[in-house]
This record gives sequence, C-alpha cells and structure tokens, in this order.
Amino acid sequence: MFQLTLRRRGISDQAVLRTMEEVPRELFVDEADRGDAYRDSALPIACGQTISQPFVVAYMTEQLQLQKSHRVLEIGTGSGYQAAVLSRLAGQVLTVERYRKLADTARTRLEKLGCHNVEVMLGDGLDLPDTVGSFDRIIVTAAMEQIPDNLIERLNVGGVLIAPVGPHQGVQTLIRLTRTVAGIERKELVDVRFVPALPGIAREL
Ligand code: SAH
Repeated sequence: MFQLTLRRRGISDQAVLRTMEEVPRELFVDEADRGDAYRDSALPIACGQTISQPFVVAYMTEQLQLQKSHRVLEIGTGSGYQAAVLSRLAGQVLTVERYRKLADTARTRLEKLGCHNVEVMLGDGLDLPDTVGSFDRIIVTAAMEQIPDNLIERLNVGGVLIAPVGPHQGVQTLIRLTRTVAGIERKELVDVRFVPALPGIAREL
C-alpha cells in the first residue's frame, strides 16, 4: 500500500521506491504514532519539529538523482528518516541539525539501522564551517526565505540543490538549483510546507 500510494502520486524511480519500502519509518516517529507511520502524512516529533510526509521525502529524493559516488549534505536532520533514505542511495551523507536532542536521537537510530555512511552533526546549516567542504547534492528540509549564496557555493559542478523556499509560515515552493559550468539553473517544482530554518544552535536541549 505504501509503495502504491507513492506510485499513484507520481514517483517512478525504482531505486527510490525500493528504498522507501526498505527504510522502517515506524522507527523514526514517536511511539504513539507508530500506527500512522505508513500513512502519507507528516507527523510531529520532539522539539516541536516534524518528520516529513513520505511523498515529499520520495519526491525530493527522486529529484536529487542520487548516485553511489555522491557526497550529500542534508540541512535539517529532524528524525533522521530522510537521511536514512539518502544513505542507501548515495556515497556519503552529512546531515546537520540545530537541536542536540534530535541530532543525538537520529544518530543512535541511524547507527542501529547500519547507516554507517551518515554523519550527524549538531550545527547551524545556514552557517557551516568551511571545513565541511563541498557536495554533489544538497537537500534542505526546512523552509528558507531565500537560498544563501554560501550554500550554493558548496555545490560541485554538476551538483543539485533542493530547498523549500518561501515564507516561514505558509506555503513554500520546492526549488531545484543545478550548477553547470555556465552558471546556476533554477527550476520551480511543487508547493510544500516545511517548518522554518532558523539560525544558530537551539538553546533548548
Ligand atoms: N528531514 C527531517 C525533517 C526535517 S524537519 C526528517 O526526515 O525527519 C526540519 C528540521 O530542520 C528540524 O528538525 C529543525 O530543527 C531543523 N533546522 C531548522 N533550521 C536549521 C538550521 N539552521 N540548521 C540545522 N537544522 C535546522
């Protein structure tokens, strides 16, 4: 049923569909929500954040056109679910979260699931240290009013960045940027709703 819903909504990449089937979403939601883990809806997680709707996870992953050679950056670890999906399709994943509690929980889950190519980092994805380097793919899973130049600069040539861009409260548009030798190509994809990307490491645990 889970795969069928995703197919019906237009996901056709076999590797993405298989991965969505393989990653146990019930391990990434609160215990009370386990029964709803395979419904196509976002669910609340700790720290007032959300785990994204499966369709949106599958759609963004499909748009990234991942290869095993890719180094991927995710901003907004949340539950770690999207990172687990990325880990099966990419080479290396660095995922950044501003809440220590979410970062720690996600790290433990991902280790248990054997996602050894994922590094969970506590930090501000809008202000990353230079030492994190550059990426083939960047996925932002929190709403940004605009995409910061310093993030675009981290994309390798041939690289793709996907981010929800728009007002923090309300509807955003998923934007796909592709870096070519000639410059940056921009495409508007679909409307989405994400919790906001906020600056700094969260003061609450
Ligand atoms: N991808 C997640 C869902 C993300 S919800 C999943 O699969 O479950 C968005 C997350 O982005 C929240 O956990 C929020 O705390 C985090 N976030 C918001 N602004 C951030 C920033 N500047 N740096 C890192 N994480 C951020």
